[in-house]
Amino acid sequence: MEKKKISIIGSTGSIGTQALEVIEKLQDKFEILALAGGSNTGLLKKQAEKFKPAYICHNSSSNEDFSGCKILRGSQGLEEICSNKENDIILVACSGKIGLKPTLTAIKNGINIALANKETLVMAGDIVMSEAKKYGVKILPVDSEHSAIHQCIKDIKYVDKLIITASGGPFLHKSIEDIKKATVEEALHHPRWNMGKKITVDSATLMNKGLEIIEAHHLFGFDYKDIDVVIHPQSIVHSAVEYKDGSVIAQLGLPSMHIPIQYAITYPERLEGIKSKSFSFAEIARLDFEKPDFEKFPCVKLAYHAGQTGGTATTCLNAANEEAVFAFLDGKIKLYDIYTIVEKMMSSHNVISNPDIDEIFSVDEEIRIKTKELITK
Ligand code: MG
Repeated sequence: MEKKKISIIGSTGSIGTQALEVIEKLQDKFEILALAGGSNTGLLKKQAEKFKPAYICHNSSSNEDFSGCKILRGSQGLEEICSNKENDIILVACSGKIGLKPTLTAIKNGINIALANKETLVMAGDIVMSEAKKYGVKILPVDSEHSAIHQCIKDIKYVDKLIITASGGPFLHKSIEDIKKATVEEALHHPRWNMGKKITVDSATLMNKGLEIIEAHHLFGFDYKDIDVVIHPQSIVHSAVEYKDGSVIAQLGLPSMHIPIQYAITYPERLEGIKSKSFSFAEIARLDFEKPDFEKFPCVKLAYHAGQTGGTATTCLNAANEEAVFAFLDGKIKLYDIYTIVEKMMSSHNVISNPDIDEIFSVDEEIRIKTKELITK
């Protein structure tokens, strides 16, 4: 059988490196066409030596040689990779707003997407999904919750409700006072998942769950009132769906991003690849669930509100949050200020209801500038 050609946008990040571990196990199934990373050329070089892609794309000014790969640079390079129709699938694994443009380019070229970058759908979900429909492209979720939902849905017309689980992050049972004075180290210490910095901070504020609600709305076409969040600290149930007859189907597994990455890139097959440790109900013994506390974690409420408002409200939410998270990581603001800042930016934003892509980029730009101004005030 011919190998599937795959490119990875963000190959040096947390999802990118785990995707390469999956692909290494499935060498007879995949061939890497291109690897794109940011400025970590040291790691990119090692990846190029091992996987021998035809193209490498990076952001650094170095003129290093990458084992004979053709070298591309910056956003121009990403465009070139994503318009290469030799690709069977592209894994968009970078974090933040840089995922949007390459995703749209790949869709226009009829290339299926394994999407790990949720910001793409939060910024411009309506456009991305309608373009995907227009070009007959599959958007396969990599986010563990959405992968779980994708695995639980057999026939979507019989599904009434999506139930997204949340581990609750490092501050689940801390007081609101403790959350307010949380340090960067504490926020980056996630109890269950080892991820990139931006998403780890989003998990500490639970904004990550907010973004995932919006992501689920676009991927599966459900109203916000039919998307629930439940806290599940053990991260064993990765999400669930409720059918019309009240039956609930959930997907379970030990926490590992290898499985959702592998499912997305091999779909509709289910291969052994990187198999997780055998699952034992008896060893796990108990699973806990509780209602999320929206007073302690108000970012979830903000995200529901932005989603229900629609248009550029979610673009605004995403841009303000991303800038506030960077400022928190830089030690400029406290953890709880992320909420206050996003809330302020959202309440002063004039929502455009059916934005085109240029309007989305200009709102994104404008909100980022305003958020930075608010932070330095
Ligand atoms: Mg997730």
